[in-house]
Amino acid sequence: LSRTAERFPQRPAISFQLLSGPKDHAVTLSWQDLLERVTETANLFRSLGVGPTDTVAYLLPNSIETPVVLLAGATAGIVNPINPLLDATQIAGILRETNAKVLVTLKAFPKTDVAQKAAEAVAQAPNVTHVVEVDLNRHLRGLKRFIVPLIRPKVKVRHKAKVLDFEAATSARKHTALEFDDPKVDRVAAYFHTGGTTGTPKVAQHKYSGMIYNGWLGGTLLFDETDVLMCPLPMFHVFAAYPVLMSCIASGAHVVMPTPAGYRGDGVFDNFWKLIERWQATFLITVPTAIAALMQRPVNADVGSLKTAISGSAPLPIELYNRFKAATGVEIAEGYGLTEATCLVSCNPVDGLKKVGSVGIPLPHTHVRILNHDDAGRVHECPTDVVGEICVANPGVFPGSTYTEADKNHKLFADDRYLRTGDLGRIDADGYLWITGRAKDLIIRGGHNIDPAEIEEGMLSHPAVAFAGAIGQPDAFAGELPCVYVELMGGATVTVDELAAHARDHIHERAAVPKHIEILSELPKTAVGKIFKPDLRRLAISRVY
Ligand code: ATP
Repeated sequence: LSRTAERFPQRPAISFQLLSGPKDHAVTLSWQDLLERVTETANLFRSLGVGPTDTVAYLLPNSIETPVVLLAGATAGIVNPINPLLDATQIAGILRETNAKVLVTLKAFPKTDVAQKAAEAVAQAPNVTHVVEVDLNRHLRGLKRFIVPLIRPKVKVRHKAKVLDFEAATSARKHTALEFDDPKVDRVAAYFHTGGTTGTPKVAQHKYSGMIYNGWLGGTLLFDETDVLMCPLPMFHVFAAYPVLMSCIASGAHVVMPTPAGYRGDGVFDNFWKLIERWQATFLITVPTAIAALMQRPVNADVGSLKTAISGSAPLPIELYNRFKAATGVEIAEGYGLTEATCLVSCNPVDGLKKVGSVGIPLPHTHVRILNHDDAGRVHECPTDVVGEICVANPGVFPGSTYTEADKNHKLFADDRYLRTGDLGRIDADGYLWITGRAKDLIIRGGHNIDPAEIEEGMLSHPAVAFAGAIGQPDAFAGELPCVYVELMGGATVTVDELAAHARDHIHERAAVPKHIEILSELPKTAVGKIFKPDLRRLAISRVY
């Protein structure tokens, strides 16, 4: 960060574009501003007793403070971002597991329960000694349309931690140089929890080397200081934190984060095309459900500045790729990563051959092996194009990178070096990686493995379908039967019988044709927009009994 601030002191580093407010209202930090704010914040954490092995957690929606706290927390100690959509008990569990000393969160603010959940969680996590509160009112003051009601909601739980105001506490440390040495690259600097897509979120630990690896890759391979990245992703997830924020630090590129005013979380995509034009964005950083949401809105602006879109975190249906390319003329480079590997594993080349449906080529210094375990527990390497478990070794993976107690008894590494991802895939003759499913997500119908993605692709090829999530419904005879839930495009109408006929025509494997199709007004999604399968499984079970 200090090197980038020296090279480009006045160039913009990060902008938060407030949505649905006055069109031009954005908060921007230059590289010099960012360095100063990170320095004063890291010094604040040190003054609160945070040493290199102590944890600073944060429970924040995206705001200008979020990247500052992320970088300062990792500089002073170990940073632990937490998804504000989790409930207070899950948050408390993470705070206890990472032994957090300081929690940065929101001061009570109308229409968000983050402060209330933080108070409830801290009351159950006696290890937290200080709560530092960010006051969102500061950003909205002066914006006439957003004069926030003066009455703050009352937080109903008391805890013993000392409460400080972020702005007052950090500005007391202004203009002081960093009061500690350069960090060691093999030091653990972050605890990130997984998305919880398949169940309870798991906490993974990351070293500086992994963070730098992710940043260096994006920074040197993809972007330079003339690039503008439009990134509507949350800052507590590895995707925005590493391949985006760290890459910008490595390259000097500018990241713009559209942020709903009032932080109510909706409306992000309503004016999105206009935002791309306004900021002359060169990259769109996104996830498949965001592309699906965008495809429901006409491209009503000049998006000629866009070079490429990058998608990751969940399978990108080919149908969506085609819709996006037809609407914008822009290709999507799909990549693959996971929290346990500090994120990036592979990506389709931005300037080279993109194989649609694949997740690209393993990144430099990343080794991918496709392994199978036989009944005697012996490990076999799969030949080209044969499906097995994707196992990964790179500077972001190390024994211990999966931290959660619950994982301790599982065999997480092959040859002590290759992380067993739990994802299934194959490598083709050109070295491209293809994900064919998640071991945990497979639907097993009478001993027959069905990849839910095959069913979802089949449903998404119907023009009325915006989102699809397939799961196995428990069945006394077959074990599981394929079942799919769909959300329709805004204004579209279609019957379940029509969808069933479409499924029979478009899903080639007989066993995968869903036995049960149901239309929901909205599918449950995680904070990074993945279809939240545990909720669908619960729904499927409730339909059986
Ligand atoms: P949990 O592990 O708690 O269930 P999660 O898997 O969503 O949650 P993340 O680390 O956010 O946690 O996501 C990593 C997973 O996302 C990968 O293991 C893989 O299953 C999936 N994934 C990421 N990118 C892609 C992609 N391009 N295509 C298919 N799946 C992907």
